[in-house]
Amino acid sequence: MKNITWIGLGRMGLPMASHLVRAGYTVTGFDLSEDSMLAAEAVGITRATSISQAVESADFVFTMLPQGADVLEVYQGPNGILENAPQSALLLDSSTISVASCAELHSLAETSGHSFLDAPVSGGTVGAHAGSLAFMVGGSAEAFAEAVAVIEPMSANIFHTGGPTTGQVAKICNNLILFINLAATAEGAVLAERLGLDKKKFFEIASVSSADSWPLRNWYPIPGVVETAASSRDFDSPTFTARLARKDVSLAVEAAEGIGQSLKLGEMIQGFYDDLIEQGMGDKDCSIISRLM
Ligand code: NAD
Repeated sequence: MKNITWIGLGRMGLPMASHLVRAGYTVTGFDLSEDSMLAAEAVGITRATSISQAVESADFVFTMLPQGADVLEVYQGPNGILENAPQSALLLDSSTISVASCAELHSLAETSGHSFLDAPVSGGTVGAHAGSLAFMVGGSAEAFAEAVAVIEPMSANIFHTGGPTTGQVAKICNNLILFINLAATAEGAVLAERLGLDKKKFFEIASVSSADSWPLRNWYPIPGVVETAASSRDFDSPTFTARLARKDVSLAVEAAEGIGQSLKLGEMIQGFYDDLIEQGMGDKDCSIISRLM
């Protein structure tokens, strides 16, 4: 069975890597946090004490880290992935990062002679635990074909999006639309209630009418309508924080700026999340955007 190395065993990385252990792979893990390492050992992941040790006999190396700068850091330098992973290892980054950082990773990997794929995911922590994430994979068709078997235990849908960085493009454009839809839902839902319409009645109508959307059905931002939505628990125990929403929207805004396009709605929503973070609500669920309406 192949050896898999997993770097970044946080809210997403740990449940994803656990599916690979359950599928029978030998998984070696590395994370800067001792708590994450203890949780990883508890599910059968072997502890590595450095990145160089973690990757030395890897067939596949996954990274699942907060930002592009973190991924670039673990890839580069004498102790990094590129210097220490076997030439035959296939490298995959599943973090959500900027298109520019992603292009840099492809270029660094190409220079060092490694195959590399951008492989971001959608489906959140629920999808990570359920093994039902959507994977959007950018890179060569040969590398994609090799990666499918190791992605399958974590995923319900695997897409080859095209060449380098196209996985990351799919991810940030999907999330841009998601957060625009969420803000639109919040504005309409707040208005309906203030104009005297029963909030549950409006939800019932909108969810089978032309206002329907995924955030409307799953993240309805008015408390007491969708029982499982974070709004019904005061926006605590977030499925997706306001801070993470701000990050994803800003990645779309940044990518658009890079090609001279301005995102009118994206920039506005980025500003809403800036305000929420400034007001101390960054760690609340992203649907708290309804408070600004
Ligand atoms: P997290 O903060 O829970 O986990 C990140 C882990 O990386 C932490 O355990 C941290 O200690 C570790 N880490 C940071 N720098 C490191 C380094 N240099 N070396 C080794 N370990 C390091 O974050 P998360 O929610 O798991 O998100 C990870 C990535 O997945 C992000 O890019 C995020 O945007 C993306 N993502 C998150 C979600 C979600 O719902 N949480 C959904 C889709 C995609």
